[in-house]
Amino acid sequence: MFNTKRILVTGGAGFLGSHLCERLLSDGHDVLCVDNFYTGSKTNVAHLLKNPLFEVMRHDICFPLYVEVDEIYNLACPASPIHYQFDPVQTTKTSVHGSINMLGLAKRVKAKILLASTSEVYGDPEISPQHEEYWGRVNPIGLRSCYDEGKRCAETLFFDYRRQHGLQIKVARIFNTYGPKMHPNDGRVVSNFIMQALQGHDITIYGEGKQTRSFCYVDDMVDGLIRLMNSPDEITGPVNIGNPGEFTILELAEKVISMTGSRSGITYKSLPPDDPQQRRPDITKANGLLNWHPSTDLESGLERTIEYFKGLLNG
Ligand code: NAD
Ligand code: UDP
Repeated sequence: MFNTKRILVTGGAGFLGSHLCERLLSDGHDVLCVDNFYTGSKTNVAHLLKNPLFEVMRHDICFPLYVEVDEIYNLACPASPIHYQFDPVQTTKTSVHGSINMLGLAKRVKAKILLASTSEVYGDPEISPQHEEYWGRVNPIGLRSCYDEGKRCAETLFFDYRRQHGLQIKVARIFNTYGPKMHPNDGRVVSNFIMQALQGHDITIYGEGKQTRSFCYVDDMVDGLIRLMNSPDEITGPVNIGNPGEFTILELAEKVISMTGSRSGITYKSLPPDDPQQRRPDITKANGLLNWHPSTDLESGLERTIEYFKGLLNG
């Protein structure tokens, strides 16, 4: 196909990465998925292997990579707090050394490169909703710092590579995303609650459940990332991508219990340190610059996600 690009997706066997690979292949591109399978799995991409335009390479991006591509989506990095805190030094290395390696690759082959950054760069924010000009309130020495500061440093590197070497960069600040193919045991709130509800176990709420999050369905997120990558060169971001609907964690628990028809109760556990109190993206930029807005509301997205986890439990 005339428009076919060679696209590298790091972290391509993870939750978001596997959906992105699928979408890029269906758009007719040649996709190289690079992953060390730290939190991702081959089963997430097994169904894509029959496509001759798809390739998987086991590789840790903390080490240099020599391939020829036109675009790089740099998604490699564990995203769930229990996973990124399991080996925090490796988490920082993945964001920092990994980004340096991928930026070096982009520089050599003149590829456009996108960073999957995070709403965590805002830390525990004093303002709501969070817009891109807000510099955040981040603890530099806490349990979440390996992830938050790693991503902040990755953003710095992206902008310095642009200023110093003229790279075409795109920085997406991703807010909590959910959907099919989330790992059932990865500890994130949506997968935890659905798995607990379906198995009749108590729902575990950390703290009083008054903290808020905004949940974006995975297809909307993938669409936003692709729009950002395809935007004109002067649009570098950072751009928030997320669903501005804001829910307390208690509201989410109640919704999941009612949608699954579960008889689960609720158990309150202690709130992990530095757990942000509120999260809600201001998506004015994504809307104006990319003509993007999410189209899946929480209920419809949860319905599809619940079906997926039911399938896993029955399968
Ligand atoms: P995930 O854990 O499912 O996927 C991450 C993938 O990266 C996995 O397949 C893992 O094996 C791989 N990986 C980790 N370290 C690597 C390394 N050193 N080299 C190569 N591969 C490596 O997480 P996800 O939810 O799919 O998140 C993808 C990206 O989006 C991450 O960068 C994350 O920080 C970002 N993000 C996600 C969310 C969300 O809610 N899902 C929110 C904000 C940001
Ligand atoms: N959370 C919870 N119970 C769980 C898992 C998470 O109450 O079983 C809370 C967690 O403390 C946080 C919110 O849900 O306030 C979102 O957690 P998640 O790990 O999904 O993402 P993040 O904190 O990175 O936004």
